[in-house]
Amino acid sequence: MKKSANGREPLYVVRSSRIHGRGVFADRRIRKGTRIVEYKGERVGNDEADSRYDEDNMKRHHTFLFTLDSRTVVDGAIKRGGGDASYINHSCEPNCEAVISDRRIFIHALRTIQPGEELAYDYQYERTGKNDKELEKFYLCRCGSESCRGSIMKPARKRKRPAKLR
Ligand SMILES: [Zn+2]
Repeated sequence: MKKSANGREPLYVVRSSRIHGRGVFADRRIRKGTRIVEYKGERVGNDEADSRYDEDNMKRHHTFLFTLDSRTVVDGAIKRGGGDASYINHSCEPNCEAVISDRRIFIHALRTIQPGEELAYDYQYERTGKNDKELEKFYLCRCGSESCRGSIMKPARKRKRPAKLR
């Protein structure tokens, strides 16, 4: 088990999730504002990222890309140097948020999180404005929260590419 971002005892465990695949769960009480874990991975350009994941042939997204800025994408696949943060699922009612600091991505607690709660942040995939109807099916959300918007894409807005593909 890895140490937490602050170098102390791990705050979480990775195990199977009802939302999707594996998830990350609080192993102790995590205070609001805590930097929980870094989203690690290989830094690549947009073209390289696109070439790694053939979305046209996927039924549902399952890539590990996180857009850091307009030129750089972090590929958090485990074979690309990804870590535990790559397993954190999306929720439309998240208890965490992704914070970019010095060109690194960290997952912070949005509120106090109790032991056993699954950690989640809002992926907010960017919309392309083109095939949003189809993409909404592709980026289907099953987070189960009351305010679930049914999609892990951002609420209608127009920008370039998903903020995070997973
Ligand atoms: Zn949802």
